[in-house]
Amino acid sequence: MSSTGAELREGASRGGGQCALGADTPLARARGGLDACVHCGFCLQACPTYLALEDENDSPRGRLVLMRALVDGSLALSDPTVQLHIDRCLGCRACETACPSGVPYGELLEATRATLSAAYPIPWIARAILWVFAGPIRLAAALTAARVLRATRLAAALGRLPGRVGFGMAMLAATRAPTATPPATWSRHPYRPRGDGHRERVAILRGCVMAGLFPGTNRATARTLLVNDYGIVDAPGQRCCGALHAHAGDLETARRLARANIAAFERAGADAIAVNAAGCGAMIKSYGHLLADDPKWANRAAAVAARTRDISELLAAAGPRPGGPIGAALGGRQRVAYDPPCHLLHAQRVSDAPFAVLAAIPGIELVSLPDADQCCGAAGIYNLIQPTVSDAVLAAKLAAIAGVDVDWVATGNPGCLMQIGAGLRRGGHRTRAIHPVDLLDAAYAAADRARSGASAAGQARP
Ligand code: SF4
Ligand code: SF4
Repeated sequence: MSSTGAELREGASRGGGQCALGADTPLARARGGLDACVHCGFCLQACPTYLALEDENDSPRGRLVLMRALVDGSLALSDPTVQLHIDRCLGCRACETACPSGVPYGELLEATRATLSAAYPIPWIARAILWVFAGPIRLAAALTAARVLRATRLAAALGRLPGRVGFGMAMLAATRAPTATPPATWSRHPYRPRGDGHRERVAILRGCVMAGLFPGTNRATARTLLVNDYGIVDAPGQRCCGALHAHAGDLETARRLARANIAAFERAGADAIAVNAAGCGAMIKSYGHLLADDPKWANRAAAVAARTRDISELLAAAGPRPGGPIGAALGGRQRVAYDPPCHLLHAQRVSDAPFAVLAAIPGIELVSLPDADQCCGAAGIYNLIQPTVSDAVLAAKLAAIAGVDVDWVATGNPGCLMQIGAGLRRGGHRTRAIHPVDLLDAAYAAADRARSGASAAGQARP
């Protein structure tokens, strides 16, 4: 049965007589953040799980009460309801944006999950995925197998099956590049970027899923940066950013991966680090917090975090240069809705830059998406381990998209691209999900084609 806020606070304060958490646990160390909550409830209507489940336990305020009860010992770590409601949190951090008191919910959630993981093992499916992502050879093998499956078109066929297997296959099918999606005549013959390189030297985070399943978007990221006068430097030795591990409570593995990335970006000597996956960007920007207690790495982590930018931030800082109209190549004017990834909007607080990117693309009609600031339900591997809640959250997003009837939903995170893309495919919608950088890249390709055509015509003239 659902609980109200008052019932929850009373229940927690009645207590179970257990001991308070040890002072060394991550949640006890983060407890100062709990004190900022004044229980006003402004965050409730921003919370997708509260809206879907209508249970105060599944709201930010309710979860903070549960965290407080763990800290003071009125609920035990072994209490199954705590695990249930903390597990159901998407980690979208919409509550942080809504909170007038500055409660650092994301940090508290991470600390709670790390504390709970000592009492409860992480579910086997999550452990298996985290194990794959932590090892570069295992990850490369898994992504190669995924690409083979995608190339056979089996993923698209199996994506119609009901259940999680079907949804997972639809997610994989949704990673097919727009170049492979008729009738788009995309930039099959990439243009040569003509920037002068006078801006910062940028290292691009390759990303696990981006490099493995969206390599075209990574190439588009490099081209659009070059067009906008950035220099590109290579940064070999990169690993998974550690976001999945940190969000699951495995902070030690997240720290190990973070150290490898910090060393890689230091060696590269870049002025900035460009990230085209919002979840990874939010993670790298939090490396300073992750390694704050490590005297050897704290300053280095903070320095790398300070140099990290979402790709939209870098492009917006440069203008960006306008492209050519993409409509002609795509069969007419394109209607585009922007859906901000939670880890860009709420975790990184980047809201305007993606609109600056889209504004540089002639031939699109930007359509406002209702409740765009609400999560799509992807949240890393949440959609695989909490399918029921994830589906309920996704259903609201798909209904909003269907209501605006657009050609494209632009969103800058692989998890959102796959989640929304899979939902659209399985629902038989004509709309496709795409990274904003792919749209800008198409506009630059269109401008290049127009320039080439004009110069050919000029040469033909007597
Ligand atoms: S988290 Fe913030 S918005 Fe939510 S109840 Fe606490 S103080 Fe209010
Ligand atoms: S992170 Fe998202 S799902 Fe979790 S409590 Fe905050 S708003 Fe709700």
